[in-house]
Amino acid sequence: MAEKDYYNILGVDKKASDDEIKSAYRKLAKQYHPDALSGKSAAEKKTAEEKFKEISRAYDCLSDPQKKAQYDQFGSEEPMGGGNGGGGFWRSSGGGAGGFEDIFSNIFSSFSGGGRQNPNAALDGDDIQINVTLTFKEAAFGCKKEIPINRVESCPDCGGTGAKNSASVKTCPKCGGSGVMRHVVNTPFGQMATTKTCDQCAGRGKIIADPCKTCGGAGRVKKLRTINISVPAGIDNGQIMTYYNQGNVGVNGGRNGSVIVIVSVRPHKLFVRKGSDLYIDVPITMTQAALGCKIYIPTLESSVSYTIQEGAQTGQQFRIKGYGLKHFKKESRGDLYVKIIVEIPKNLSSKEKDALRNLESSLGSNQYPAQKAYMENIKEI
Ligand SMILES: [Zn+2]
Ligand SMILES: [Zn+2]
Repeated sequence: MAEKDYYNILGVDKKASDDEIKSAYRKLAKQYHPDALSGKSAAEKKTAEEKFKEISRAYDCLSDPQKKAQYDQFGSEEPMGGGNGGGGFWRSSGGGAGGFEDIFSNIFSSFSGGGRQNPNAALDGDDIQINVTLTFKEAAFGCKKEIPINRVESCPDCGGTGAKNSASVKTCPKCGGSGVMRHVVNTPFGQMATTKTCDQCAGRGKIIADPCKTCGGAGRVKKLRTINISVPAGIDNGQIMTYYNQGNVGVNGGRNGSVIVIVSVRPHKLFVRKGSDLYIDVPITMTQAALGCKIYIPTLESSVSYTIQEGAQTGQQFRIKGYGLKHFKKESRGDLYVKIIVEIPKNLSSKEKDALRNLESSLGSNQYPAQKAYMENIKEI
């Protein structure tokens, strides 16, 4: 949808009437018409020319009820986001400006090489991408979720034809059903023969005399649906789940798009996840570290007890096997890695400080092997 907004281009409201659209177009077309540009520089003429094309294109779409319905619903006049190549969108009947536009459109469409897509060709529906945020536990154990999606479906009332009934689909009188028009035009470069898409039927070869009221002739409608997703245990941040055939409807026999679910997993306050392994920091006191202790370590399900040997140090890590997350799509589980953090007390009273000094004076250097080695190494520098 790289197209600029047609309503903005014409400076009208989305609810503007046909007459309002027409008069806005006339005013702008007069302003940027080549006749109004005498005495302007080449650059100014070029800008005006672009602007004029833009205005004409916007008006071409908004003045055609079928294209307008399509545009209002999907933000594009092309069926399901088809290319916006050359022909088709220039009016050849636009009042006094006809000659200019005609020449222009033919040059334009011949330059663009007729790369326009056949509007009757099968087009696959677009994918719908949604982001789903899971809690840490939902990702660890898997879960089921109902996800609302806004998708384009075939209109239930006309079966996707855009017509009120089969009698209101008529062969296009302008191109006789071929969808293309042949033109021979005199241009500043000589005579040029070009084919361009029929502007009355946009290349379909058919026109809808009486459009379906539900979809306004577009043949498709947006529906809010719920899809049920089943998240497997062990899914990780950034993983993608694809639900085929659940996206936007295909056109002319094209396949439906997919729903693509991108998973984000919220971080946990205690556990850090690396693949299927979990990491946790467990703070213990200075005394617990020195004397050894039994601690309870939380796991995803409940907790396990673990005996810390006396003389434990900060940073010491141990592994509890099988208490990590389930491996994605496997039966086995990762491990839980526990890191000991010795917490040194703060805000000691003078009595406590004295007690610690007394203790310290009774300790020998053999009880601080790391410090002892450090001091010996310092002497060698
Ligand atoms: Zn319909
Ligand atoms: Zn036609």
